Amino acid sequence: MSSSAPITQDVVTIPRNLPEGPVNLVGLTREQLSTALIEIGTPEKQARMRTGQIWQWIYHWGVRDFADMTNLAKDYRAMLADNFVVALPEVVSRQVSTDGTRKYLVRIAGGHEVETVYIPEPDRGTLCISSQVGCTLTCSFCHTGTQKLVRNLTAGEIVGQIMIARDDLGEWPEPGQGSGVAGPRLLSNIVLMGMGEPLYNFEAVRDAMLIAMDGEGISLSRRRITLSTSGVVPEISRTAEEIGCMLAVSFHGTTDEVRNGLVPINKRWPIAELLDALRAYPKLSNSERITFEYVMLKGVNDSDEDARRLVKLIRGIPAKINLIPFNEWPGAPYERSDPDRIEAFADIVHNAGYASPVRRPRGEDIMAACGQLKSATERARKSRAEIAAEAGVST
Ligand code: SAH
Ligand code: SF4
Repeated sequence: MSSSAPITQDVVTIPRNLPEGPVNLVGLTREQLSTALIEIGTPEKQARMRTGQIWQWIYHWGVRDFADMTNLAKDYRAMLADNFVVALPEVVSRQVSTDGTRKYLVRIAGGHEVETVYIPEPDRGTLCISSQVGCTLTCSFCHTGTQKLVRNLTAGEIVGQIMIARDDLGEWPEPGQGSGVAGPRLLSNIVLMGMGEPLYNFEAVRDAMLIAMDGEGISLSRRRITLSTSGVVPEISRTAEEIGCMLAVSFHGTTDEVRNGLVPINKRWPIAELLDALRAYPKLSNSERITFEYVMLKGVNDSDEDARRLVKLIRGIPAKINLIPFNEWPGAPYERSDPDRIEAFADIVHNAGYASPVRRPRGEDIMAACGQLKSATERARKSRAEIAAEAGVST
């Protein structure tokens, strides 16, 4: 550790004792589902087949009621209904932006809330999902990082966000249809870029993504799933080995000094260690390139010198640099870089041979853009002064 500064300040972690009740099958791995079926009396030699049948009903057809699982015997369906549920988190509200972006406020067990955002584009539809309520990390430019309450989402609550969006988009296949016959998929991509640090909730995120990738269900290719991390170095190789999805990293600073102030986890795993882990990722995961996310903050990290340092640092790593104009939120201690500054920065990166798209903010009118997510009902909030102090900037 290069610094003794605390990474996690005054967050309150909510205990994970969820209310007792029938077991929810959503979010169980195939093995867990099989075990659950055996526990209620399914003969062991049938368990594999029953698991496959129920799996398809839940994740391919979007069926929630055991009575509709028509290839199972009636008394077996009744037994399932006595013991299990197929339940999604509750949608508290749904807002639609003028640009078509949809934001869902989702209530999970215990009454806490997270946000999920659907972003339609001409050639794809991306769902941005949350992995935690709040975030224990405190990146100084991120609205989620100002939220004090934190709890990890379960795998069911993570995969449940995908199912909620498919419900809303009307995207479950009709009987007799394969998926995708009706044209390109509305929900074709997933980014783990909502609330929370996915690599601080590794097992649940992994299990949920393996469910999303499973060919007998939602069936999204691992290349269409991107996990974004602030740089939890020890979990990066595990992500390659156990999930194998695409990786994005919240880079944002080209010196440890600047990055420490923006992404405090850099104090624990500084730039050099992070880059070593990233260099190893493509080979381990067999994925082509890493996305470097870089939020453009006026006068903080947006100079020509920063751009040159960035391309030098990442030399040798197959990469794309996503430039994100800073999205403002109430009390934020930063401003967005000017458009011509962003363009100049993008040109330097581009001329060095890297794609450098500037991310167009989506859903700003409904506070759905990157870094703006935070449940509206959440009250315990850090003060402007606390945020500024942690960022090492004066207001
Ligand atoms: N915790 C993960 C994933 C969630 S954040 C991570 O940090 O990578 C998703 C992306 O939004 C990150 O790149 C984050 O740095 C960026 N972001 C956060 N706040 C932002 C803001 N106010 N404006 C623009 N981008 C922001
Ligand atoms: Fe957490 Fe990511 Fe926001 Fe940092 S940018 S506070 S890691 S959600």
